[in-house]
Amino acid sequence: MTSEQQTQARPIHIPPVIVVSDLASLLNVTAIDVIKELMKNGVMATINQVVDFDTAAVVATDLGYEPEEEESDSAGGDADGDADSTSMRVEEEDSADMVARPPVVTVLGHVDHGKTTLLDAIRRTTVTEGEAGGITQHIGAYQATAPDGRLVTFIDTPGHEAFTQMRARGARVTDVAIIVVAADDGVMPQTREAIDHVRAAGVPLVVALNKIDANNANPDRVKQQLMEVNLVPEEYGGDQIVVPVSALKGEGIDTLLENVLAVADLQDLKANPKRDAVGVVLEAATDRNRGVVATVLVQTGTLRQGDAILSGLAFGRVKAMTDADGKRLKDVGPSTPVEILGLSEVPLAGERFVVMASDKEARNEAERRRRAIASGDDTRTAVTLDSLFGEIHKGNVQDFNLVLKADVQGSIDPLVETLEDLSVDEVSVKVIHASVGSITESDVQLAVASKGVIIGFNIGPEPGAKKLADHEGVEIREYRVIYDIVDDVEAAVKGMLAPVYEEREDATIEVRQVFRLGRRNAIAGSYVREGTVRRGQRARVLRAGQVVFEGELDSLKRVKDDAREVASGFECGVQIEGFDDFQEGDEIRTFHMEQVR
Ligand code: GDP
Repeated sequence: MTSEQQTQARPIHIPPVIVVSDLASLLNVTAIDVIKELMKNGVMATINQVVDFDTAAVVATDLGYEPEEEESDSAGGDADGDADSTSMRVEEEDSADMVARPPVVTVLGHVDHGKTTLLDAIRRTTVTEGEAGGITQHIGAYQATAPDGRLVTFIDTPGHEAFTQMRARGARVTDVAIIVVAADDGVMPQTREAIDHVRAAGVPLVVALNKIDANNANPDRVKQQLMEVNLVPEEYGGDQIVVPVSALKGEGIDTLLENVLAVADLQDLKANPKRDAVGVVLEAATDRNRGVVATVLVQTGTLRQGDAILSGLAFGRVKAMTDADGKRLKDVGPSTPVEILGLSEVPLAGERFVVMASDKEARNEAERRRRAIASGDDTRTAVTLDSLFGEIHKGNVQDFNLVLKADVQGSIDPLVETLEDLSVDEVSVKVIHASVGSITESDVQLAVASKGVIIGFNIGPEPGAKKLADHEGVEIREYRVIYDIVDDVEAAVKGMLAPVYEEREDATIEVRQVFRLGRRNAIAGSYVREGTVRRGQRARVLRAGQVVFEGELDSLKRVKDDAREVASGFECGVQIEGFDDFQEGDEIRTFHMEQVR
C-alpha cells in the first residue's frame, strides 16, 4: 500500500467494512472489476458480500488509489447483513451529504395476474398534476407520487427474468418487490418462482392481491396458499403485508404505495446527491434517428447533461436526458430513471454506469476493457461443485445455493428436505428454488445471480437454457437416482469441511551432542543439514531410520539465544516437547502440513 508503487495514486477513504458493489461505486469501476481484482488476490466474493478494509485496500491499490481507512461508527449496522434489504449502501466520503432517496420497486408475478395493468394503473393514478403535457412514453421506469407526496420509482419491465438477469449482471436495483397474485387464480408456479427469485436476492416483498373485483375472486384461499410458501399474512399473525387491489379499476393503489414506502423505510435508503452519478442501465436500444437510447437509473450522485459516462464497453457524453413524461432534464439525482442519448454503443441491461472525469478517460477505459475481453482476461465467476470447495476453504462461501428441477412434484419435497439437512455449521445447503419442469433460462439466471449450481432430476435443460448456462459457465448436473444427488452434495459439503493436507518437509538436522538439564530435560546440540528449521514446526526423531518420536519443536537456540529459525549449515540447540531421550546420531526431520486442492 505504499504510494511509491503507484505514480500519482489517488487518495481514497474506505470504511472498515464495505459491500463489494459499494466498493465498486467508490472506485468508479464495475462490481465485476472488483470481483476480478479480488479473485486475482485469492478472494472469492459475490457482489453482495462484505469485505474488510484490508481486502478492499488491496483492490483499491491495484486500481491506482491510495486507500486510507475511514474511521466509521456507522458501518456497524450493516456489517452482518448478507444480501439483505438495502440495495444501495454506497459508503460516502462525507456521510453528512447522505439524504433519503425514493425506493426502487419491481413488480413480479405469474403471467396474466395483472403486472402490466398494475404498473399502468399506478402510473395513471399517480402522475403529478400539472406535470402533464409531455408525451407519456415507455422508457423502462417511471416515478409515482404516494399520497404523502413522496416519490416511488417503478421499474417498468415486469417479470422475474428481467429482475434476475440484472442481478446476474451484478446490479442491485430493487429495494422492494411487489408480487402480484390474482385473487381469482391464486399462487401459481410462476408466483412461487418469482418469490424464490426475490428471496434469493434478499429483497423484501409486498403482496398485491389483484383482481379483487373479479366475480370469482377468493382472497382467503390466496392467503392460505401464501402461507404454504411461508408468507404468513399479517391478519394470520405473520408479518407479510398483503394489499388487496384492483389494477383494472385503480383501487387500492394508494394503500399499496403506502405499504411499499413503509417497507422501504425500514431500510433507511440513502444516497449522496453531491457526488458524481453511479447507476445501472435498465434498458437500451438503437433508434434510427436518435442513435443509442438508454434508460438508466441513477443510484447515487447527480447525473448532469454533458457528463462523460462509461457503461461496460459503451461510453460517451450525456447529450440529452428525458423522463418518462417526456420532460427534458439538466440534472437528476438518486433513484431517478431517465432516458439518455449520447452513448457510443448499446450497453447491456443491468450494466453499471459511472461518470468519468472526461470523454477521453471514458473512451480509454472502454478500450482497456475491450482489450481485456479480447485477450481472454475477462474470466467469468461461475461456480461448479468443485470450484465451490475452494471458496468454502477460504471461508468465503457460507451458502451452497442449489436450483432444483424435477419431473414430478413427488420427488421435490423429500429432496429439498434431505439436501438442506446436509447443512452444517460452516456451510448451509440452500435450495433457493425448486420446481417441476425442465431447466429454463430463468433458472440459469437465478443460478448466475446467486452463484448456484443447477440440479436436474430426471429432467434436462431447454436448449436456450443450455446455451446460456454454457455461456455463463453455470453448472447443470443431471441425475437419475436421488441417492446420487444426495451423495454428491454431501461429498461437496464434506469436501468443504475436510480439506486434504499433505506433509511438506522443512529441514533435516542431525544430533551431534546431547546436553542434559536435570532429569526430564534434554537439549539436542544439532547441525542443520538441509532446509531451515523453525520453532513450532512438527518434528520427528529418527534413529537408525526408525521414527522414535513425533512432537512439536518448542525451543530453538543459536549459541545461547533463542532463535526463530536456523538455516542449513548452522548449528543449533533443539528441544522437542515431551521428549528428552535424544542420542547422538539421531536425525530430526521437521515438517508442516499444507492444504492441497
Ligand atoms: P401480466 O401478464 O401479469 O402483465 O397481466 P396483464 O396486466 O396483461 O393482465 C392480464 C389480464 O388480466 C388482462 O386481461 C387484464 O385486463 C386483466 N386484469 C388485470 N388486472 C385486473 C383486475 O384488477 N381485475 C380484473 N377483473 N382483471 C384484471
